Amino acid sequence: MRGFQAEKFCDIRTPFYYYDLEVLKQTLSSIKSAVSGLDNYRIHYAIKANFNPKILSFIAQEGLGADCVSGGEIKAAIEAGFQPDSVVFAGVGKRDDEIRYALSVGIGRFNVESPAELEVIDSIAKQIGVVAPISIRVNPNIAAHTHSNIATGHEDNKFGINYPDLPKLISEVQSLQNVEFKGLHYHIGSQILDMKDFIALADRINEINEELKSAGLPIGDINVGGGLGIDYQDPDANPIPDFAGYFAAFRNNLKYDGIVHFELGRSVVAQCGTLINRVLYIKEGINKKFAIIDGSMTELIRPALYNAKHKIQNISSNGAPTLYDVVGPVCESSDVFGQDISLPECHRGDFIAIRSAGAYGESMSSCYNCRPLPQGVFSDELK
Ligand SMILES: *Cc1c(COP(=O)(O)O)cnc(C)c1O
Repeated sequence: MRGFQAEKFCDIRTPFYYYDLEVLKQTLSSIKSAVSGLDNYRIHYAIKANFNPKILSFIAQEGLGADCVSGGEIKAAIEAGFQPDSVVFAGVGKRDDEIRYALSVGIGRFNVESPAELEVIDSIAKQIGVVAPISIRVNPNIAAHTHSNIATGHEDNKFGINYPDLPKLISEVQSLQNVEFKGLHYHIGSQILDMKDFIALADRINEINEELKSAGLPIGDINVGGGLGIDYQDPDANPIPDFAGYFAAFRNNLKYDGIVHFELGRSVVAQCGTLINRVLYIKEGINKKFAIIDGSMTELIRPALYNAKHKIQNISSNGAPTLYDVVGPVCESSDVFGQDISLPECHRGDFIAIRSAGAYGESMSSCYNCRPLPQGVFSDELK
């Protein structure tokens, strides 16, 4: 693993997140070059992927907007230096106090997910005496090729407005006084590697735009959401996601000249983060050998929640390759990082790196079993 220095890691309490700022920098600059010349593209970072304050301020300095799904995320984004008018706010269950807060700081867009929510935003905006900028989140009814827990664009998911209800809702936005119709929002899911899914989204948006135009309804601007996947198997070979292919899928297929918003989360931060653990015990089972490490599902829940596979490395040993089930100490049978993983022979105290953990890792950590939250350590702090 790049940047590993045993003597510098030794004094840090494991498990911890190690963030390689060079990787984050390269990722952000390849996003920039992939969209250079596309002046109508606006890139937002999805805060929920990782809201470590240092990561947020780093990304804010690069000039990205923020995609938020709660009032707390809006606050974190603004404190980190994101411009309020670059903030978009999605989510099926926005609370009144979150709506009020978002209006008071002047966010750029509410991505509205139901008629009931629209009425509440209108009435709160009326109380404050402002007009709320509204996009409508459309459920395009596309089944993306990803894990079912992270697919969001099918009509049976809770997200967005189904197309048959869209014309009526646009008219409703136009008829209310304290909301203004600004555009349409889509987001079909996460960890999507097949560009055909994004092309299918672009095609579907073209169809919807045509239908709205012929009904005499406005489109406003388009937000295509996020979802670009990363290489979990081989992060060293592919540290930077395929941004060129991703943006080309829209550039070549979306027939639309106005402003296009993107909301990238995972693809921005996943590869810069590694969960660093230590081996506590080696335990011999009947048919298996367990490497019990001090990290668990409370630091990184993706394997337990989505059956996700992260690359696991013993970065301390160069012993003979041996098969291990790599497991954490938490009292759940799902607290397993990998089964039958070949690692150089493990010993108590060895550092175990769980790679590609920068997205939905630290941000989803919990205190289950009264475990402390993991700290984030940055490459520039180890010099
Ligand atoms: C989570 C989310 C994103 C980011 O998804 P990634 O797969 O991390 O890129 C973008 N938009 C919305 C509305 C989201 O909920």
